[in-house]
Amino acid sequence: MVSRVFSAGLHGIDGYIVTTECFLSGGLPRLDVVGLPTGAVAESGERVRAAAKACSFDWPVSRVTVNLAPADTKKAGTAYDLPILLAILAAAGEINAPPQDTVFFGELSLTGALRPVCGALSMAIAARDAGFHTVCVPAQNAAEAAYATGISVLPVPDLNALLNHLSGRATLPPCEAPQPPQPAEQALDFSHVMGQHAVKRALEIAAAGGHNVLLSGPPGSGKSMLAKRFSSILPPLSDAERLEVIRVWSAVGRGQEAAVRAERPFRAPHHSSSASALSGGAGTAGRLPLPGEITLAHRGVLFLDELPEFHRDVLETLRQPLEDGQVTISRVAGQVTYPASFQLIAAMNPCKCGWYGTGRCTCSKASVQQYLKRLSGPLLDRIDLQVAVQPVEYAALAARGKAEEESSAEIRARVLAARDIQYQRQGADLCNALLPPPQLAAHCPLTEQASAMFAAAFDRLGLTARAHDRVLRVARTVADLAASPLIQAEHLAEALQYRSLDRAAAD
Ligand SMILES: [Zn+2]
Repeated sequence: MVSRVFSAGLHGIDGYIVTTECFLSGGLPRLDVVGLPTGAVAESGERVRAAAKACSFDWPVSRVTVNLAPADTKKAGTAYDLPILLAILAAAGEINAPPQDTVFFGELSLTGALRPVCGALSMAIAARDAGFHTVCVPAQNAAEAAYATGISVLPVPDLNALLNHLSGRATLPPCEAPQPPQPAEQALDFSHVMGQHAVKRALEIAAAGGHNVLLSGPPGSGKSMLAKRFSSILPPLSDAERLEVIRVWSAVGRGQEAAVRAERPFRAPHHSSSASALSGGAGTAGRLPLPGEITLAHRGVLFLDELPEFHRDVLETLRQPLEDGQVTISRVAGQVTYPASFQLIAAMNPCKCGWYGTGRCTCSKASVQQYLKRLSGPLLDRIDLQVAVQPVEYAALAARGKAEEESSAEIRARVLAARDIQYQRQGADLCNALLPPPQLAAHCPLTEQASAMFAAAFDRLGLTARAHDRVLRVARTVADLAASPLIQAEHLAEALQYRSLDRAAAD
């Protein structure tokens, strides 16, 4: 007899339905799993057999063939343990056929307990979209899977509890709809950073318009301190964005963590990171490439400290994602596209010794130029704001505890107001930093005075066409923060000052 149990698999961050069929035939007792199982799936037989024994089932004394369909897609991971066991027990007549309106997945321990798997939310969503009524998930995946609305999500602690539920002896209660997580007592706040008002202003502009930022300043000037607080002034995650973030983190088995975190992701990979650690690609044999840091930073912030220390090839892999908001990775095991829409904050010392521009610099002019050349031009092209960070002023330190610094909440309120203006003007998902060139003229009207100033500055600073557009986008955000429909000369002047590296390189 052939039994059939529905399950789900994961490709990238997308789930798909897998049909698990089991057929018992005569011949020497053995277990064959077909349908391109790799790695952990090929080993599932041992776990399944032990779990069946632990729950006092008789293993069928016959040849057992399990097929995972579609048979032409590689199956990886441990999620198929549960459906394989259910299919075998049903084929052997040990249990009734599992309901056909339900999707099952989960890793089995040798004692029959259910362990969490990667991609639970995406697989639950795939089950819902395919019209299933219920999805049974490992209890430890419940918090993330509960975000799949429109399908009943049953958290299952172990095999016995599931079988009792299926036979009607004891009912498992479905997950309740998740409550949006509340921000933890805001640990990182801009009010903790004394002084540095110019940099805070630049970060406010970056948050308001979605611009990428490069902070350049001597060691100890507080670049990382400021960058780490950047998420606290970004708009809170929307429901749709939160779903995307959980699906991404779920693909690497960290969906639970993402499901209870209120803040946007913040990733700060070390400058010794490899290209595959940053952009994705590492994976176990036979498995699709795993997402990298830029995908974990999706809908959040990617902070690259010591930018010139990163290997050039590593930085080159950022070009496509910065342009398209996604990254495509090809490996022997297959090709996969992951989302990677993040805001980049990069930081660097202005020269090798770190003190260029302060009077303490010991570098030659040639070595300063050499240092700046390490930055890849195409990468710099995608950074709208270049901000010179000055060493902390003594006055600011002396005023610590006396003067009130503005809190992240106050800054965020202005950011949200500016985002709202962009939303009204450009529609959702198109912040100023992403305005395509054809739309710039329509959305960035300059006053006559600003227009004349721009013409003069263009020649004086030797701006390229790309730089021209970047200045215009930043000026648009500055004007939005001032709630001004027209870009005034003062807005443009502020935007022009965020080209400090161009000036340093031209000096
Ligand atoms: Zn120096």
